Amino acid sequence: MPHEESNPACGRTLRSPSEPARSTSAVTPRADRARRLRAVSVLAVGAVLVSACSGTESSGGASGGYPDRQITMVVPFSAGGPTDTVTRLIAEPMSAKLGQQIVVQNVEGAGGTLGAGQVARATPDGYTVLMHHIGMSTAPTLYPQLPYAPLEDFETVGLVTEVPMTIVGRKDLAPNTLQELVAYVRGNPGGVTLATAGVGAASQLCGLLIERAFQVDVTEVPYEGTGPALTDLVGGQVDMMCDQTTNTTGQITAGGVKAYAVTTPERVAVLPDLPTTVEAGLPDVQVSVWHGLYVPADTPPEVVQALTDALTVALQDQNVVAAMAKLGTAPVAATDVTPQAHSDQLRQQIDFWGPVIKAASPTPGG
Ligand code: ASP
Repeated sequence: MPHEESNPACGRTLRSPSEPARSTSAVTPRADRARRLRAVSVLAVGAVLVSACSGTESSGGASGGYPDRQITMVVPFSAGGPTDTVTRLIAEPMSAKLGQQIVVQNVEGAGGTLGAGQVARATPDGYTVLMHHIGMSTAPTLYPQLPYAPLEDFETVGLVTEVPMTIVGRKDLAPNTLQELVAYVRGNPGGVTLATAGVGAASQLCGLLIERAFQVDVTEVPYEGTGPALTDLVGGQVDMMCDQTTNTTGQITAGGVKAYAVTTPERVAVLPDLPTTVEAGLPDVQVSVWHGLYVPADTPPEVVQALTDALTVALQDQNVVAAMAKLGTAPVAATDVTPQAHSDQLRQQIDFWGPVIKAASPTPGG
């Protein structure tokens, strides 16, 4: 029997370092995990909306009658942004399948790492679920002191969707094409502002690719999500942004922002006139934003399976499919709605983005 220790912050049980790591474990020992999770507890005091320790009175383990009460789904970015939008789309059909209410909670800040940290230290009973995106794979490189390990501190539930990004500007920005935008930014080194959702966000990752491709710095303006960033872009308070079609399509179509390119190899059906970055001559700016659901490590497998099953049903819901299509995206293939496909993707993406980010030499907060 593995020795167990109690987490003083949450009354959570953590296994001892002597216990073998899970199959998804890369290198991080359990002792490191306990230390990291304590660290994030301290960091998060006063910074999150609701303590991860609240509402975690386990009904004696989550297996068996799971779920027998409300589930909290944490979005690590602002309400109204693209991660929030996708989460709210799937929460309703998942709730119907599970027979319990799902409450979406926005725990924004630090490029999504505050919300992820909150879920990492929550009770592993399936009542606290995280929706996160590509940022789960970039944060370990961007944050040397990241107080959780994506491959070690979470169970993967399944992939959800992969969303193209768009490069957009305020509607009265002078350039009309991507090539004109490159010339404009080069002519104003550091003088053009780029809205992002902070270091670790997809918008910031795309910003790094843009800076590298444009070979010039822009001035980043961090928000806690690209929902509020888009509002400021429409209002003309910032110059440009790179963000998901699930956030930008409405304003592109309505003329609230000027669109320059989509960052995928193919054009997007809902924005048929928008060229790809490849067509526009910047093939290195290519990124799409994959999303997945997570629960804390050590959540019972049958609970993870119940969530995977509910996610599968939600992604086959025709209302969800139609709503996603209007926003330029689609559910992932059914074969990717599995814990294994999701953990494979996470591992591959950590390996992929690490060297790319190091080459761009960002610094947290920079
Ligand atoms: N799309 C944002 C990002 O840049 C996050 C959000 O607001 O959903 O990662």
